Amino acid sequence: MHRESPESNSSACAIDIRGLEFSYSRGFRIVVKRLTIAPEEQVLLAGPSGSGKSTLLHLIAGVEHPSKGSILIGGTDIVALRRGAQDRFRGNHVGMIFQTFNLLHGFSARENVEVPLMLAGHSASEQRQLALEALARLSIDAPDAPVDTLSVGQQQRVAVARAIAGGKRVVLADEPTASLDRANAAATVALIKEAAKRAGAALLMSSHDPEMREAFDRVVEIEEFTRGGARP
Ligand code: ADP
Ligand code: MG
Repeated sequence: MHRESPESNSSACAIDIRGLEFSYSRGFRIVVKRLTIAPEEQVLLAGPSGSGKSTLLHLIAGVEHPSKGSILIGGTDIVALRRGAQDRFRGNHVGMIFQTFNLLHGFSARENVEVPLMLAGHSASEQRQLALEALARLSIDAPDAPVDTLSVGQQQRVAVARAIAGGKRVVLADEPTASLDRANAAATVALIKEAAKRAGAALLMSSHDPEMREAFDRVVEIEEFTRGGARP
């Protein structure tokens, strides 16, 4: 399997990871010599449970910090940014969809979508406008309803709206289908792919389900990076 997209000029890539090394204190280790994802490319991050998929997504999202290497998002190395700048950069360019949505309970759909836009440095009026646009795109027509009053399907669409709001370069989705039956999993993947495409964002989605492969432009096996380290 080829690991590099045709364009590996870093500023032309949505994601360009080079020489990345990370390990938890318990010893689990990831080494990524090079991984590039082209703009708007839709890539499946495949591997069994415990193989490091969430760890890699957290590194790209800036939740975990590597001991070595660089992670360029649209040409900017997030590893080299200071903490505050990194948070703003992520808020502007990287959206993340979690398996359990991670919505803020007691807050409205709009407020949930506004939070990362606030962290990204948008004014209150921009937050509101971008949130309403994203929610409308995901067919949420009651943006001021508390998320707890929405159906599970609607909550999922709020989580997708949050990940694309403001026009992201990269959408990361961590096993968004793990708790769903086959029909709902397929519908969820279609929803996420469509939203990322319309937002002009690259999509990197993890799954331990081999059936997901066909829906993606390319499959990256996480175990290439975690079993015996990098290959040339
Ligand atoms: P996956 O998402 O593919 O199921 P993870 O990235 O969650 O895999 O985990 C990869 C490995 O790292 C596992 O062995 C897991 O136990 C370990 N791990 C995950 N998070 C932590 C953590 N915060 N501290 C120490 N080890 C962790
Ligand atoms: Mg995981």
